[in-house]
Amino acid sequence: MIYPQLVFKCKCGTAQAEIKGKLYAESNCHCHSCVASAKFVESKPNFDGYSALSNGNGGFAYVLVKGKDINFTSDIVSEEAHKNIDYVKVGEKGKLARSYCKRCHTVLGIFEKNFAFLNRNCLFDHGGDPFKPSAPVINIMKKHAFDPDSVPEPAAATFPFFGALSLMPIMWGFGGKVAPKDSAIYAGKDLSKVEVVPITWES
Ligand SMILES: [Zn+2]
Ligand SMILES: [Zn+2]
Repeated sequence: MIYPQLVFKCKCGTAQAEIKGKLYAESNCHCHSCVASAKFVESKPNFDGYSALSNGNGGFAYVLVKGKDINFTSDIVSEEAHKNIDYVKVGEKGKLARSYCKRCHTVLGIFEKNFAFLNRNCLFDHGGDPFKPSAPVINIMKKHAFDPDSVPEPAAATFPFFGALSLMPIMWGFGGKVAPKDSAIYAGKDLSKVEVVPITWES
């Protein structure tokens, strides 16, 4: 779906970007990792951010965008920026980092080199109104939810195949770079010191 330019920002404004181009996927992911990570960050004291969960307690509300379509308008490279953004991974061996703002504890999303899964609740139109998807958002990974029966319709048991197919080129690196390598938005390759969301479920 192509939208006019959108604004992405955490509640306190530490992380802000302009998003242009296409949103490649708009879904709510109910998998353990997404939901547990959001709940972990949002249960920290002083949480005063935008929840990453649909309706505050559903699945991870995300949009997938190409790296080149994200243009950061707030500082994400200075020492100060590095102090203000932190990460979590799921389990000691977690290979994926989710970035969040340490000031308001808004989960920002998953930032890879060429693409990002952004917290959809951080998106606004230029009039300042919260972004509204044009079609009902599909709830994916129902089969892997903490409580599958509570996952609302429209729902998909896993990650829909055709959806995955259309995302491949972006995942493979045709999305352009998100931000400078030394930016705070990335956890980088070494996740050994990243805070761990404990795995409390059977995988
Ligand atoms: Zn913030
Ligand atoms: Zn997920």
